[in-house]
Amino acid sequence: MNLIDGKALAAEMRVQLREQAERFYEERGRRVGLAVVLVGEDPASQVYVRNKIKACEETGIQSFAYRLPADTQEEELIALLDKLVASEDIHGILVQLPLPKHLDERKILSRIPAAKDVDGFCAQNVGNLAMNRETIVACTPYGVMKMLEKYGIDPKGKTAVVLGRSNIVGKPMAMLLLNADATVTVCHSKTKNLKEVCASADILVVAIGRAKFVTADMVKEGAVVIDVGMDRDENGKLCGDVDFDRVKEKASYITPVPGGVGPMTITMLMYNTVLAASRSK
Ligand code: NAP
Repeated sequence: MNLIDGKALAAEMRVQLREQAERFYEERGRRVGLAVVLVGEDPASQVYVRNKIKACEETGIQSFAYRLPADTQEEELIALLDKLVASEDIHGILVQLPLPKHLDERKILSRIPAAKDVDGFCAQNVGNLAMNRETIVACTPYGVMKMLEKYGIDPKGKTAVVLGRSNIVGKPMAMLLLNADATVTVCHSKTKNLKEVCASADILVVAIGRAKFVTADMVKEGAVVIDVGMDRDENGKLCGDVDFDRVKEKASYITPVPGGVGPMTITMLMYNTVLAASRSK
């Protein structure tokens, strides 16, 4: 078994991103800029936002943080977003989700143009991904592709199974693997014979949010296993969707939790921001 070290790759990529951000500043006379908008006081969202701002500092990206009260009205938030969209200092805009219930998430997010949608969530970016055209790819699945590449795992011709079909992980993951010439199956809560389907995978990506759900009998000998899950086990300890201790005995490569996909996600946000800046006029 080989461990796929997301923490090490993330650190390596952040050094490269810092160099790229510095080069951008030398060439353009302005910094790469990321705006992060947080509405309300959700504790988990506050931690995520803090970590994103820290990652900006680490990579030489200028962060613009907007912390708005939970009762912020739609017009107010839209006015702020329109201002950020127009600003030449801001290359990426991120609205931390979930938004408070009274705000229409879809309407709010639609104010962010594809070129500044560094989360890669908008319909235009998702559509471009589906058509294998230039786009901005959602951070978590893109991070998985970077990990596969780093470890010399080429999906071409392989059987890939993606467990989970969310818009932010499962679906874009499946499209990326398909674009990389894998033969892809997407599974979800209604899939029959889940065990057999998973056990057919050369590459198994799991993103369902169920602690240690994938057991050794669901994994083919020698498979590459990527665990996107971030769950709590029976003792409240952070764990993934994969029963790591058993599955590692069968996998050729496996990501740990923590230290696997997680550290790559924020790094890919920085990557997307530098990319958006480099594409800006
Ligand atoms: P989500 O939106 O809740 O989607 C979960 C998916 O898993 C759904 O498609 C669901 O099927 C499927 N599913 C749930 N239970 C299942 C079961 N028993 N058998 C088969 N399929 C099942 O979750 P998400 O946002 O994609 O996140 C998934 C996990 O990844 C979570 O643990 C989350 O915390 C983690 N995550 C980690 C990162 C990171 O940076 N490491 C980033 C994002 C998410 P249906 O569609 O049929 O309901």
